[in-house]
Amino acid sequence: MEKVLLKHFGYSTFRPQQKEIISDVLEGKDVLALMPTGGGKSICYQLPAMILPGLTVVISPLIALMKDQVESLKQNGIEAEYLNSTQTPKEQQIIEAQVRAGVVKLLYVAPERLFSGAEPLIHDLSDFNISLFAIDEAHCISHWGHDFRPEYLKLAMLKNLYPKVPVIALTATADKRTRDDMVKNLALVEPGIFISSFDRENISYFIEQKQNSKDRLLKFLSNHNTDSGIIYTLARKTTEQLADWLTSYGFSALPYHAGLDPKKRAKNQELFIRDEVKIIVATIAFGMGIDKSNVRFIVHWNLPKNIEGYYQETGRAGRDGMPSEALLFFSRGDAHMLRQFISDMDDQEQQDILYKKLDQMINLCETRNCRRKTILNYFDEAHDGNCGSCDICLENNTYFDGTVIAQKALSAIIRLKENYGTGFVVDFLRGSKSEKIKSYHRQIKTYGVGADLSKDDWFKHIRSMIDQGLIQIAEGKYPVLKITQNGAQVLAGKRNVSLTAIEERASNKVVKDQNTISLFNHLKTIRKEIATSANVAAYMVLSDKTLDELASFRPFKLEQITAISGFGEVKAAKYGERFTEEIKAYCNENGLESNMKANTRPVRVPKKRKKPTSVSPTVITTLEHFENGLDYQAISSKRGMTEATILNHLCQLIEYQKIKVDDVISPETIASIAPVIDPKKVQSLTEIREQLNNKYSFEEIKLVRSSLSFPH
Ligand code: ADP
Ligand code: ZN
Repeated sequence: MEKVLLKHFGYSTFRPQQKEIISDVLEGKDVLALMPTGGGKSICYQLPAMILPGLTVVISPLIALMKDQVESLKQNGIEAEYLNSTQTPKEQQIIEAQVRAGVVKLLYVAPERLFSGAEPLIHDLSDFNISLFAIDEAHCISHWGHDFRPEYLKLAMLKNLYPKVPVIALTATADKRTRDDMVKNLALVEPGIFISSFDRENISYFIEQKQNSKDRLLKFLSNHNTDSGIIYTLARKTTEQLADWLTSYGFSALPYHAGLDPKKRAKNQELFIRDEVKIIVATIAFGMGIDKSNVRFIVHWNLPKNIEGYYQETGRAGRDGMPSEALLFFSRGDAHMLRQFISDMDDQEQQDILYKKLDQMINLCETRNCRRKTILNYFDEAHDGNCGSCDICLENNTYFDGTVIAQKALSAIIRLKENYGTGFVVDFLRGSKSEKIKSYHRQIKTYGVGADLSKDDWFKHIRSMIDQGLIQIAEGKYPVLKITQNGAQVLAGKRNVSLTAIEERASNKVVKDQNTISLFNHLKTIRKEIATSANVAAYMVLSDKTLDELASFRPFKLEQITAISGFGEVKAAKYGERFTEEIKAYCNENGLESNMKANTRPVRVPKKRKKPTSVSPTVITTLEHFENGLDYQAISSKRGMTEATILNHLCQLIEYQKIKVDDVISPETIASIAPVIDPKKVQSLTEIREQLNNKYSFEEIKLVRSSLSFPH
């Protein structure tokens, strides 16, 4: 498997879960794989396709994407084709003939092509020697998913007609109901289910108040001079205005929305994918059908409706694994507008769900807790809240005794009869002359007692009080502030409060030397040249990640090129010489040396995990169940969470010494596993398991590893 990975794709190691998934597929098992965008799903069926004797049929709803996917595979010398309605009947006949002749290894088809039209392909499949069905975007089969497609339901037929051909279903949607639907509706037989972490480690999250946002945007973009990125806005008109405005500042930007003339829309998208234009300002209509791996930043000019959407949109950054940034401008005005949209709807039940989701999105914007943790917790995944790459974690906070400030706020909320939201309370505290503050409000004693602090400071402190459980936001249409029991204690002088003063934000950017950056940019120009003459997108020639390694390690000799991630055999033969020559010439001219050591692949230093500082409430809930005698399978079904998540909780509890590993598994098992684990090394679970002759489960190994990973 490793050989094939290196030869065809140019990668030397598997990403988490890939190897396990591929092993199952090669053994002929059905598989359900849940992985976030950019996690590396495609390799899970593309690599088996190269090993299995017959054809792999990939079913995908994204017709617009097929051409790019096939093009990318061809760049790696892999025989791939697609069949869909964008081709003429003649073109389709030619491809079918190639498939029959056994030349094609991977065939992409849309479900429509399989089941409807004049000649549904499903009848011809028996002529093809099929080794594997891969169902991409498999959540489309579920009513619960955000993207239900009736044609997908017919895919159950595959198992009926071809019971011997294994099926791998893949998706980036993780919730339990959708997952159950996929297994049931695709009629998977005892599938191996693989659920990856949804943490996109290479994306940094920044959320700011929407103030001086145009200046802020310019500053942000000037840090991304040569990068590709997407700016999402709510209204079509804003996309055009913002794109024009950015163009007037010398940025390369174009708009995209559903109301544009289709030709122009397709053209703008194409220009973006081909790196001819750097920034697309778009409504959320943009992005579904694109696979561009070198999107370096996502800006949300407006508030997304829910965390699912935010996660999906920001997830379009950094598919190549390189550091990428997400910036959101949060305004209460947007929140109000979105609330308005919801209140205009008829269906009461639906309304309640949408309000709730919006509130959770607002909570993500206002929280003083780690953004990554908040996002992952929303998807039922635990995180230690110490990511080091979100605005909250990067703040250098100092704490001060904020009891008096807190009392002012609490008192104002009480005097306002717990009937108002944050914005009003802040204006009231600051003694605003705004018209919404009526004269009877101004009679109240607390009116204006907080005039010494800025609006921003007040919002921040109130937010912090919410996070500390002193204030609560009522759910529903009007998010008014209420005081909790703990808050009442503060007001009564029985409890102190500490608040934070923010000094500055640290940077998590890796500082690269100027030479490496210049060489990287030089290589980008060459890549562009090659892409233009081959008429493909630049990222298909080589990924940003590959250029980055080239610029850092500077191979001068052709033999060294396959040590660079992303250079498989075919690409090395096609482009290797060109790039090594360019690098050598550039380095000679600028007095730089190669950083390649002999012929070895550059060694990547594994990231050190920090010791977490506290566990989240959801983990505590698991602890309670555990203490009541439930094992992790039982807790999983009781809480409706995946076994992997519960296991993850238990691992955290072991790390925190809340429970001991021998409460979970037998001392004999621990004694056998422990000697094989070296906490100082990065070992994959598979590696450890193999050393133990596959006698122990991944779960057991993980638990033991947790007990060793942070020596106390
Ligand atoms: P997904 O479909 O899950 O969004 P992709 O399959 O498009 O993700 O993979 C994202 C990127 O990661 C691609 O550029 C792919 O080539 C790269 N990739 C996949 N597996 C590996 C690996 N084992 N090592 C390095 N890069 C990988
Ligand atoms: Zn964080």
